[in-house]
Parts: sequence; structure tokens; C-alpha cells
Amino acid sequence: MSTQVETLEFQAETRQLLQLMVHSIYSNKDIFLRELISNASDALDKLRLEAFRDKELAVDLADPRVEIETDREQRTLTVRDNGIGMSRDEVVGLIGTIAKSGTAELLQKMQQQETTSGPAAKELIGQFGVGFYSSFMVADRISLLTKRAGEKQATRWESNGDATYTIETVDDAPQGTAVTLHLKPADDEDNLFDYTSEWKIRELVRRYSDFITWPIKMEIESK
Ligand code: ADP
Ligand code: MG
Repeated sequence: MSTQVETLEFQAETRQLLQLMVHSIYSNKDIFLRELISNASDALDKLRLEAFRDKELAVDLADPRVEIETDREQRTLTVRDNGIGMSRDEVVGLIGTIAKSGTAELLQKMQQQETTSGPAAKELIGQFGVGFYSSFMVADRISLLTKRAGEKQATRWESNGDATYTIETVDDAPQGTAVTLHLKPADDEDNLFDYTSEWKIRELVRRYSDFITWPIKMEIESK
């Protein structure tokens, strides 16, 4: 059974931030992958910590990993982890909201940088913790399926980066989080630099996520 799909509105500030992401003011869109992998890695750290603190918690600690999967035909990229996951309330609180007081400042700084490119903007994204939203630079729809360790029900969240997102409680999902990006149309006909290209993904993982201590596995769907 899955409950009714609810449509919720992003906060005004979140919407503003999403607009900047959707219209990709950055030259370096590649960093979205670093952000997703770092969230997955954090989720695995949190799982380990929570299992250590609470021995009663029914968590699955087997084979912790980050998985990346691409589908060229569907133009999707999925980053999956079997970490701590999120409850429904956490999804609404953490993904649907930017509760941080620094948001206005961030927006201002980002707007100032609209004309400049490169590393400064990149720093800002990490610094202010808007990591997840950076995926809207490369995706026109994002769907997230998550189940918190020890809980029975899972949550599906979906948004096209507009004013709203949908949220739904679902019964069936593995522990952890899967973020699926529905990628924007490719600029590059030969797909070499496309985010469904194995070569491209390997290169980005090497470049940005080399320090991640959890295994990162990749499954590439070939036609
Ligand atoms: P930050 O990582 O700086 O907190 P993000 O925008 O990257 O900011 O993520 C926001 C929050 O959403 C995270 O702090 C975390 O609580 C939650 N989150 C994001 N991705 C995951 C994930 N894969 N597993 C569990 N929680 C996640
Ligand atoms: Mg993050």
C-alpha cells in the first residue's frame, strides 16, 4: 500500500536557490556528483555511529557502500547508499527546507558571482550546505527514495525544481537512500562528456571523491 501523494511547497528562499540551480549559473556543473556522494558517505558514517550507540536498533550493517548506476536510454543517473536513510519528517525538514540562516547571504554571494566562474562558487555550495540542490544544475527532475534504518515505511520525494515537490509514503524500499536524476538533454552528441557515460563518471569520482573511505561501486547499463 502506498499513501496518497502530497504536494508541498518549497520555502521562498529554497525556491530562489532552486531557480539559480535550475538556470545553472555555474560553469562547473560536475560538482553535483561530489555532493551526492558526500551525502551518501555521511549517511554511512551516521549509520555506523547510530548502530554503535544503540545496539537494539534493527539496522543492516552488511556491505556498506555507495552505488552509482546510469541508464543511457532513460537518461538517468542514480546514486544509492545503504546508510542511515531518512524518515518522512526528515525528508520534509532536510530536503524541502533550507532552515539555515545563512541562506540569504548565500543567495547574495551567488548572485554576485553570476558573472564570474569557477572555484569560488564551488566553495560556496559546499560551505553553505546546499549540496543536494546542486543536482538541479544537471537534472530537470529528481526523485528520491529513502528508508530510515530500523523503520518499516519508506518515503518517495520528487521535484522538478519548481515551486513544489511531492511526497509519498511507500512500503517497499531497502534501507538507505537512492537519488535518481532525470538528466537534462545532452549537449554532446557523442555522449563522451555526458553524465550517463561511464568514462565521465569514473573521471568525476576520481577527481572529486577520491578521499571517500566507503566503497563506491558502479553499474553501467549497456545497450
Ligand atoms: P549538507 O550535506 O551540507 O547537510 P545537503 O543539501 O547536501 O547539505 O543535504 C541536506 C541534508 O539532507 C543532509 O544534511 C542530510 O541530513 C540529508 N541527506 C541528504 N542526502 C542524504 C542521504 N543520501 N542519506 C541520508 N540523508 C541525506
Ligand atoms: Mg551534503
